[in-house]
Amino acid sequence: GKRIAMMTSGGDSPGMNGAIRAVIRTAIERGCEAYCIYEGYEGLVQGGNLIRKMGWSDVRGWLSEGGTLIGTARCMAFYERPGRLQAAKNMVLNGIDALVICGGDGSLTGADKFRAEWPGLIEELVQKKELTAQQIAPYKHLNIVGLVGSIDNDMSGTDATIGCFSALARICEMVDYIEATASSHSRAFVIEVMGRHCGWLALMAGVACGADFVFIPEKPRADDWQQEMCKVIAEHRKIGKRKTIVLIAEGAHDRHGNKISAEQIKVLLSDPTKCGLSLDTRITTLGHVQRGGTAVAYDRYLSTLQGVEAVNAILDATPETPTPFIAINENKITRKPLVQAVIDTKEVAKAIDAQDYDRAMKLRDTEFSD
Ligand code: ATP
Repeated sequence: GKRIAMMTSGGDSPGMNGAIRAVIRTAIERGCEAYCIYEGYEGLVQGGNLIRKMGWSDVRGWLSEGGTLIGTARCMAFYERPGRLQAAKNMVLNGIDALVICGGDGSLTGADKFRAEWPGLIEELVQKKELTAQQIAPYKHLNIVGLVGSIDNDMSGTDATIGCFSALARICEMVDYIEATASSHSRAFVIEVMGRHCGWLALMAGVACGADFVFIPEKPRADDWQQEMCKVIAEHRKIGKRKTIVLIAEGAHDRHGNKISAEQIKVLLSDPTKCGLSLDTRITTLGHVQRGGTAVAYDRYLSTLQGVEAVNAILDATPETPTPFIAINENKITRKPLVQAVIDTKEVAKAIDAQDYDRAMKLRDTEFSD
């Protein structure tokens, strides 16, 4: 059987532990040896006790745990070839011939690069006399499969990433808490949510919580955005709404690329000399509560099914198969070429349909009160 190692890399997301559990147990069940690489690529580069063999019961109870129990890290060394050489050496020394990596597009890009450089990396190690030709003989091919773990839902080619629905649920819960106090005091809240490049969380939370206004990176605002926002909010107030919720993704900006900040919005809502509004306005930055906590049922389900499929993909792989990642499309678990998805992610972002956005926001009070 193969010797399959599981690793988590980049930012953590709820559901990663479900993926680890599924990969480890499926590997064992399929007659393979299972390993975990702790601390992301750092563990692969450093080796030693950061690479550990796993048994069936080592992952017991992991499904409902938040974060990643095998650690994650950003690893500078892996960006450079000497770091990847060291990683390749540790793979051979531990007899690992297949890797499943759960991370964001950066982590998966690094994985594909690593595979593309194989077996050049291990041949170089022989030239440098760090390994013998005999040692590397069984490792001519490296199999890698990606799982997308990210709270942002920012990968093209898949409907959902592992963790995004947990983060969304957490945001909605927090907005509910804030709404109770906001309407008690008739206040406005500007709530900043994660999403530097992808506004999926902010938009979905805006729809799910009935926010008054949402700023996302995919919809750069026109020059009159201040007036537009204030007009909508003034109308909501006029028809008797006691609370105002504005959601802003970290990467919100106008059409010139200037950042739109929570502080700026607060001034617009509270300073009557700006747009005529004088709302008692507070800013809440949700921060890392969005990442933490346990995975919702959907992420446990998704990570488990995708983890099983990752091992299947490893066992089906031939040297010619382009590196796959495991996706979900219309409720079917699928395998897709990784490189193309990474390119699409960079070029078109995860397309949030402008029409969908406008339709969703039409459900606000104003549109009905006209
Ligand atoms: P997140 O969604 O949290 O940003 P990510 O996987 O995209 O997750 P990155 O910080 O981009 O996060 O990547 C994690 C690690 O993967 C890096 O620290 C580095 O070790 C490795 N990595 C990323 N991109 C590359 C690359 N182009 N070449 C080699 N290694 C890379």
